[in-house]
Amino acid sequence: MSELVVTDLHATVGGKEILKGVSLTIRSGEVHAVMGPNGSGKSTLSHVITGKPGYTVTGGSVTLDGVELLELAAWERAKAGLFLAMQYPTEVPGVSLEAMLTASAVAAGRDADVIKASIAAESERIGFATDLITRPLNVDLSGGEKKRNETVQLGVLEPKFAILDEIDSGLDVDAMKAVTRRVEEATNADDKPLGVLAITHYKRLFEELEPDHVHVFAAGVIQKSGGRELADELEETGYAEWAHLVDHSAPTAFDNPFGDTTFADGLNLHEG
Ligand code: ADP
Ligand code: MG
Repeated sequence: MSELVVTDLHATVGGKEILKGVSLTIRSGEVHAVMGPNGSGKSTLSHVITGKPGYTVTGGSVTLDGVELLELAAWERAKAGLFLAMQYPTEVPGVSLEAMLTASAVAAGRDADVIKASIAAESERIGFATDLITRPLNVDLSGGEKKRNETVQLGVLEPKFAILDEIDSGLDVDAMKAVTRRVEEATNADDKPLGVLAITHYKRLFEELEPDHVHVFAAGVIQKSGGRELADELEETGYAEWAHLVDHSAPTAFDNPFGDTTFADGLNLHEG
């Protein structure tokens, strides 16, 4: 049994405080859903936990089975058992899914041939076209293919904890089912069940993936926690209760490491 413990986490980006004291404990096999308005800091939370550069942690801790992750590089956190399914999966020209996964798994002490077989099996399991395994990672893939691709990685790498940042965005009904069913199965595994932090806007994610806890995230903190019924409530009422807490002051273009460019807009950095 493993435990991912986030304690009073504070972080800034572009000189603006986005995470304002997040505390959350996830155990193996548990699914925690995080729902909240656009711009509230949900992706920032996923990035800070997994170690994406560009964020400054100003307080708090994130431990996995007692090991402080905030002192580790992103790859070391991955090796410790953490996985991020990105909201906007990165395109990596020149590197195939197979090459990337084989390198990751071999670095973790696993056998390359076993990994190849596992990639094939996982792809088949969720309907990821096998010819995409050897194509450049995410390049020219549709939204649905990208999220299936992330899910193949999750299945092959067998992390202890997965953060799913809007894995339901850009998916058609079939892809949605395949992806969420696969994640739910991982959480129910007899051996090493997966713990999940699922960021989403829609309770349709929970048709296959069973949430144990639902958290409302707004203005950089968890405002309210409950069970599945909280997701139903949110679909009725929205986030009006917390709207007055939202800080609409935008970070300045000068502070933004991505700059105020058309390219950055194309990446939807400020959306969702
Ligand atoms: P969510 O995922 O909840 O929609 P984000 O975590 O993506 O929210 O963003 C939270 C806030 O942080 C937003 O106001 C966003 O504009 C800002 N932000 C995110 N990344 C950066 C960055 N690299 N530079 C400056 N501001 C950023
Ligand atoms: Mg986001």
